[in-house]
Amino acid sequence: MMSLLETTTFTEVAAETHVAEKSALDKKAQKIAFENNKLEKRLCRQVGQAIADFNMIEAGDKVMVCLSGGKDSYAMLDILLKLRERAPIDFEIVAVNLDQKQPGFPPEVLPDYLTQLGVPFHIENQDTYSIVTRVIEEGKTMCSLCSRLRRGILYRVASELGCTKIALGHHRDDMLGTFFLNLFYGGRLKGMPPKLVSDTGEHVVIRPLAYVREPDLVRYAEVKQFPIIPCNLCGSQENLKRQEVKRMMLDWERQHPGRLETMFNALTRVVPSHLMDPKLFDFANLKATGSAYADGDIAFDEEPCSTAESKPNVIQFTDSSPSRVADDW
Ligand code: SF4
Repeated sequence: MMSLLETTTFTEVAAETHVAEKSALDKKAQKIAFENNKLEKRLCRQVGQAIADFNMIEAGDKVMVCLSGGKDSYAMLDILLKLRERAPIDFEIVAVNLDQKQPGFPPEVLPDYLTQLGVPFHIENQDTYSIVTRVIEEGKTMCSLCSRLRRGILYRVASELGCTKIALGHHRDDMLGTFFLNLFYGGRLKGMPPKLVSDTGEHVVIRPLAYVREPDLVRYAEVKQFPIIPCNLCGSQENLKRQEVKRMMLDWERQHPGRLETMFNALTRVVPSHLMDPKLFDFANLKATGSAYADGDIAFDEEPCSTAESKPNVIQFTDSSPSRVADDW
């Protein structure tokens, strides 16, 4: 039979264990909260930096934020709203969703979310799904026609709403992926620009998530519990070539952490004189000048590529990196 002393000892041990477990849980919760806060700050800084670097938003702009119901566009809206609160300029935001009438699309999710948020919004109902499924043969990818229709509709809506900028939620990895798709299958050095004028010449399209890594957006969506709408409702498979490029990029990043960042930085440091496009560099009239040129080609020696890869020196986003322009946003 257990003595009173032994019972007391067990009770004390149990109480101590409970306190220790609670303290471990508190520490874990604090760590998670700290990491989440860091993530939010990083996203704000990167979006602010992209806006500043490419002069994406100016005073008086009315920005149409295109919301698909996916993680990227939710994050874009969320961060732009945060930045607007402390931006040095005034600009408007209107969220726009195009309901393409795909089977199973929940029409109430975005209006409910946006109403709760108190953001002005517009839902454009256009049954492009029926058009695309009628025109495209079964088994063929519908994305090309679908995107063309969507683009035309969004441009029209932007004009009707008086929007001066159209914001899309493409991120760093989308932009790199497009670069490789064009390189491998299109034979062109061409990426996805952070800012462009539409083919109609009437709209300016911006990509405020240009510097944001996809894994950060995945985590941010979890933290914020965005009401994600699945992106495969139309039944179309993501382009196989894009999937292949995505896999290739993931493999590279796994084997050589930081490589994607280095490659992305390379897109911001183009040297036309060291490529072969005579439209970008006047090779025909290139002549010896007789004067030394510090950045000139060393021609016969090997370029120090390996150091460039290990020490990217353009845009490095760490939580401690000072960024005056981005902080203004
Ligand atoms: S995945 Fe579906 S909704 Fe998206 S572009 Fe392709 S066809 Fe359109």
